[in-house]
Amino acid sequence: MLSKRTSPASDPRGGERARWSPLTLAFGAALWIAVLCNGPLWTALTALPEMATARGALFIVGFALMIAAGTGALLALLAWHRTIKPAIALFLISAALGAHFMSTYGVVIDPSMMTNVLQTDPREVRDLLSLRLAVHVVLLAVLPIALLWRLPLQHRRFKVQLVRNLGAFVLAWLVLLALVVALFADLGATMRNHRSMRYLINPLNSFFALGVLAKQTNAKPAGPPAAIGIGAQVMPRAPGSLPPLLMLVIGETARADHFALNGYARATNPELAKLDVVSFADVSSCGTNTAASLPCMFSHLGKSDYGSRSGESENLLDLVQRAGMAVLWLDNQAGCKGLCERVPHAFASEPPPGGGAPEAALCNEGECFDEALLVGLDARLAALPASARERGVLIVLHQMGSHGPAYSKRSPPDRKPFQPECMTNVLQQCDRSELVNAYDNSIAYTDHVLARTIGWLVERDKQYAPMLLYVSDHGESLGENNLYLHGMPYAVAPREQTHVPMLAWLAPGTRGVSGLALDCLKRERNKTLSHDNLFHTTLGVLGIRASEYVATLDAFAACRAP
Ligand SMILES: [Zn+2]
Repeated sequence: MLSKRTSPASDPRGGERARWSPLTLAFGAALWIAVLCNGPLWTALTALPEMATARGALFIVGFALMIAAGTGALLALLAWHRTIKPAIALFLISAALGAHFMSTYGVVIDPSMMTNVLQTDPREVRDLLSLRLAVHVVLLAVLPIALLWRLPLQHRRFKVQLVRNLGAFVLAWLVLLALVVALFADLGATMRNHRSMRYLINPLNSFFALGVLAKQTNAKPAGPPAAIGIGAQVMPRAPGSLPPLLMLVIGETARADHFALNGYARATNPELAKLDVVSFADVSSCGTNTAASLPCMFSHLGKSDYGSRSGESENLLDLVQRAGMAVLWLDNQAGCKGLCERVPHAFASEPPPGGGAPEAALCNEGECFDEALLVGLDARLAALPASARERGVLIVLHQMGSHGPAYSKRSPPDRKPFQPECMTNVLQQCDRSELVNAYDNSIAYTDHVLARTIGWLVERDKQYAPMLLYVSDHGESLGENNLYLHGMPYAVAPREQTHVPMLAWLAPGTRGVSGLALDCLKRERNKTLSHDNLFHTTLGVLGIRASEYVATLDAFAACRAP
């Protein structure tokens, strides 16, 4: 079928040029994709010890044919003279992009990663562009598409082509089935022992992920999310005490083991080390990318229930606002993923009420260093309703943090203690120590931003009882086991991607907000915690009681004065 070329007499120009069957092109493209666009899969498979035998080699060849048959079956359904070229072009471009990101960053493409891709800020795309990307796309997609477009096609009647296409579809499935049966023992073992391998099958992984997301979107009931916190109340404060002001800082891509406060050998926390900060050493994230972690962190459901939820609910921000406190979400990243829709929110790049946008040294072309979050914060706070502020304030700062792969862009030029820095986004091209330098500079800058944020809070302690809580959304791989960035399926994700830093700071010299005792928090710092604790701990800190509050999940409950 692959080599069949025909020159039917029906050529309208009556020329002698051979015309190509759409099905021949479909299966030719399928073979090209299976063999050449699946480099990351072949690399991963050949690295397995069990594949180092003749039987292993046979399995890999068989696996390539399975992918070609599966891809060919899909393309066969689109093999009409008008549709086959655009369909192949779409498959080739998807496959080339998938191959690039998987081979360059060691990521796999599953529904969670696809959600993250679809929610990527256009500004973040700049960080991902590289010469290597261009080479991948040109070699794997643009050149074959250019060749494809020059090929003349056979034009059959619809019914005839339909019969041929369905025949080819069934045939391809039979070939696939025969291969699965023949290689079942090896296929089963490989897919069971190396679960993430299935997410390397390109471009079917992208199509599968899009299909899952489309199904989820359709299944989502229309209308507003289910309300939570009905009847939530602010507990009465001790006479003469001040309303709580909780600064909840959501870090980005910070891994716990690169914080000096957790024992990292480099001085990544020089400023926080001088302040009375408690660093919780054993905290796990809910997901391995922002789109998965962020909504889960603010949900009352926790990781396991959030993953299996049937509909959408309101979140922590809605509950705190419903209880009568002032809430503000301030973003220096791709946005709040819908969390802040119903509460006051702004981007750090936007001027605060009364004007005074961040200066050019902080913000360039809409992209800001995290210190921009503090510009005009007084004006933003003052713009919240006074009666609500009197009960308490929750401000969320959503950082840019250590967002990769362009780590060197995350710290200003005068705040780079670790040199030399990796300056490219093609991480394998950098010396590993330079990559770690660039990453550690971003952690040291977060240290500075948090210390400045604490400085701002200290100045408000006549009006409020201030507290800072910092936690990162997920970690990052920095080349360990040849993995980069984040987003591995949680079940197989390395600890570097799920072990996150969490810090707490209370105004010194007081019992702090809600009677929290600092010494007690310090004793508790090795407790096993996770993002599941954030919702309940925040309510505890703010002194809000709601039916969703679970005291056993409040990380600080044991440290609160009765
Ligand atoms: Zn993130």
